[in-house]
Amino acid sequence: MQQLKYFQHYPDNLQAQIASLIKEHKLQNYFKNKYPCGHQLQNQQVLYQYCTDIKQRFLKNTPRLNNVSFTKHTDMMKGTLGTHTHKQHRHGQKLKARYDIALNNQLKYAPEAILRALIVHELAHFKHAEHDKAFYKLCCNMEPDYHQLELDLRLFIVLDELALNFYKLS
Ligand SMILES: [Zn+2]
Repeated sequence: MQQLKYFQHYPDNLQAQIASLIKEHKLQNYFKNKYPCGHQLQNQQVLYQYCTDIKQRFLKNTPRLNNVSFTKHTDMMKGTLGTHTHKQHRHGQKLKARYDIALNNQLKYAPEAILRALIVHELAHFKHAEHDKAFYKLCCNMEPDYHQLELDLRLFIVLDELALNFYKLS
């Protein structure tokens, strides 16, 4: 099953469960039961404020977030579902840092918890470049259910790829 490529690093028994969820067409019900509604963060300013609030709470001593946007489809296998860029530029005598977050367009119509997990992931990269222990520890600090939500995020991408994303209709 092609979709299982997103779950290769999970244990075999979990992969088997995921495979049957997809094969038996139960994926949509899984989402309908667990996350009945989609988020309301389509507006760029609302989205920016949402991210800034999380950042202010958990990552106080990091530079200001410059921009957050939904951009076009990115390949989950190559990178991640979002990107974070960090540029430095001279502003007078001061070196100013500038942080941008770009989120995969597929998350424009998605459950809030899942979008939040992706935002937490990208924010955690402000402090840790690699996906190491310290990185995931910070993710879990910002979102205690992070690991489950990352799994659901991967399942959500499958839902969207199979054209079953019902959040687009609501
Ligand atoms: Zn990452």
